[in-house]
Amino acid sequence: MQFNNTWFNELPGFYTALNPTPLKNPRLFYYSEPLAQQLELDASWFSDDRVALWSGAALLPGMQPLAQVYSGHQFGVWAGQLGDGRGILLGEQQLADGRKLDWHLKGAGLTPYSRMGDGRAVLRSTLREFLASEAMHHLGVPTSRALTVVTSDEPVYRESAERGAMLLRVAESHVRFGHFEHFFYSGEQEKVKQLADYVIAHHWPELVSEADAYLLWFSDVVKRTARLIAHWQSIGFAHGVMNTDNMSILGITLDYGPYGFLDDYQPGFICNHSDHQGRYAFDNQPVVGLWNLNRLAHALSGLMSTEQLKSALAEYEPELMRAWGEKMRAKLGLLTAEKADNDILTGLLALMTREGSDYTRTFRLLSATQQQESRSPLRDEFIDREAFDQWYQLYRQRLLREERSDEQRQQLMKSVNPALILRNYLAQQAIEQAERENISVLTRLHQALARPFDYAPEYADLAQRAPDWGKKIVVSCSS
Ligand code: AMP
Ligand code: MG
Repeated sequence: MQFNNTWFNELPGFYTALNPTPLKNPRLFYYSEPLAQQLELDASWFSDDRVALWSGAALLPGMQPLAQVYSGHQFGVWAGQLGDGRGILLGEQQLADGRKLDWHLKGAGLTPYSRMGDGRAVLRSTLREFLASEAMHHLGVPTSRALTVVTSDEPVYRESAERGAMLLRVAESHVRFGHFEHFFYSGEQEKVKQLADYVIAHHWPELVSEADAYLLWFSDVVKRTARLIAHWQSIGFAHGVMNTDNMSILGITLDYGPYGFLDDYQPGFICNHSDHQGRYAFDNQPVVGLWNLNRLAHALSGLMSTEQLKSALAEYEPELMRAWGEKMRAKLGLLTAEKADNDILTGLLALMTREGSDYTRTFRLLSATQQQESRSPLRDEFIDREAFDQWYQLYRQRLLREERSDEQRQQLMKSVNPALILRNYLAQQAIEQAERENISVLTRLHQALARPFDYAPEYADLAQRAPDWGKKIVVSCSS
């Protein structure tokens, strides 16, 4: 296990070096075995005598812990300096293939950037982040991942006293739009350039010797962001807090707070109880992605001309529409493209909106369509059967023009239409039990989420529609 910290070594002035503040009486509560395997960590790493590592009390050789400084726009407003208020970047694991992975401990105590916060995280939110990042990874969405959850008897006060916890997460990088904004707005232009050079050298090495490196890089950031958001839209994921400090330069999903996966298809779904205006509503995510990229472009205005920035930003919408179109076409089982395909998609989405259909189940049931059968496996899910039948006729005719076997198409559809997603109520049940020291529900859910596209009969109960009470659970920023 080799650690280094290029952020520490190459970017002095971009952080405060400090150790985590360990929790009292820490206990390793849970860990991700599949991720451990990928990182080549055998079971001995997770034995009781290694808890010091996962709770911030011990470091591995080569780790150089630090808190990063960044700023950001929160809910559309410039928020000034933020930074790692409760997170510590321990170091970067050097992988055999030359890549590196940040090890970041969240809930690791006060830092110079804690502002009014206590530097801690509670078990509930730590498990929510753990489950979401694992679920997203297995759905194929770029994301940070979660390795361990440590808990303790140390109380952490939110609305009431809760149990303090720490999450060790790994990501290719934690560099955010807000890092660039920070140095731009504090008038440190040379640091904006230094950071861009660092990011290009470590994450876009193929661009280092290009004459237009900054433009090529920024235009890739634009396109990665577009693809990430298209992916979120296609699986029905709402991030909840798309502030620029939570936006990854590398286009990975970062900082899971009050996120939500769609149950009923409601385009305007707001998962964050604190988001009174619906700024981060599900159907607003594409627009917000571009707004955030505009803030980033402004911060990069010393590196590129306005024309260059504008030309890169102009790639956002077409890239998002292309990526979203591709995903949605696959969800409908269409491999060829026809002009009227968009009408088929919008027709279905309009029906689903009217009926409040379950987003995930609708597409999964559609995956069982047999093109020679005039009866759809979905029909019974709709109240307005007449409207459904009209749509289905169009859809079936369209499928027949694909000239592909049912088997082929169903296979494609089932590989993009998950049977199982992390429904809020499932997360809630797992967390409630975990807080009572019963981790069996959490373990089972975690295992099921590792195979979202297989319909495993033993997990059939997890693939059902959410019960009404389960759709009303409120999630806020308090974590
Ligand atoms: P978030 O929206 O959760 O990503 O957090 C926004 C900012 O608040 C980041 O700078 C966090 O580090 C900081 N923050 C959130 N919770 C706490 C806490 N309990 N203690 C200190 N800082 C926090
Ligand atoms: Mg954040």
